Amino acid sequence: MRLTSGRPPSRKASKGRGRTGPINEGKRAVEPIIRIVDLWKEYSQNGGEVTAALAGASVDIARGQIVALLGKSGSGKTTLLNLLAGLDQPTRGRVEVEGTDLRALGEQGLTSLRRRRLGFVFQFFNLLPTLTAFENVFLSLELIDIPDREGAYAALDAVGLKGKEDRYPYELSGGEQQRVAIARAIVKSPSIVLADEPIGNLDNRTGEQILDLLHTQVRASKSTLIMASHSLLTCRYADRVLRMEDGRIVEEAPAPWGKAQ
Ligand code: ADP
Repeated sequence: MRLTSGRPPSRKASKGRGRTGPINEGKRAVEPIIRIVDLWKEYSQNGGEVTAALAGASVDIARGQIVALLGKSGSGKTTLLNLLAGLDQPTRGRVEVEGTDLRALGEQGLTSLRRRRLGFVFQFFNLLPTLTAFENVFLSLELIDIPDREGAYAALDAVGLKGKEDRYPYELSGGEQQRVAIARAIVKSPSIVLADEPIGNLDNRTGEQILDLLHTQVRASKSTLIMASHSLLTCRYADRVLRMEDGRIVEEAPAPWGKAQ
């Protein structure tokens, strides 16, 4: 694993952006890392009126892409991320991750997927309050039987937290807590990082620093990133912009001001 920090986003890595379906690299068709096919999630209120949080969402996402998933509150972003992580079941439709239909995985398989292949970054950081910054990051490795203490220290160093490893979450600012969360996600070199409103609880300047860091770390670990947000700022760091509208996914032209091209 290689971790870096502080570099501005590269303009190179998004040649495949804006495409759906298999991506042609030369003559070889490359399978998307995520395939979402006609995904529905409906809730009925007390057995009565049905609300569709997702209403036929479909999209393919290429390996290594950084995707901004934009949408108003209630448009279905969190529901989509939960289904992608296998934390909830769709009413119908399917999600494939690295060619595996999530319906084929039992609880154990889904837990293993989340621990080994997925990293998570949340709006409220979700660090374990009784563990230090180091322990929060190290736990993510211990859970997959990689007790790599040096790796955990290196991950914290890479997010700018050298010297703060022994602090508890309450002893860190919001931005610093999100840095720990990014280190915790990236340290295991996940295939995919799912970020739900990663800057939703931060001021603009800190939010921009966090997006910059997230972008740099995800590129360095060659992960795929999906960031759900209602903030246009995330578009600056994305190869591709998807908009959620009433439970469906609509492709958008990439932001002309984007840094990540
Ligand atoms: P977003 O993340 O874009 O704010 P959500 O995925 O949280 O959107 O929610 C999409 C829609 O589904 C909303 O209308 C929300 O009220 C509804 N919803 C989400 N979870 C539930 C639930 N457990 N029961 C009923 N309705 C839900």
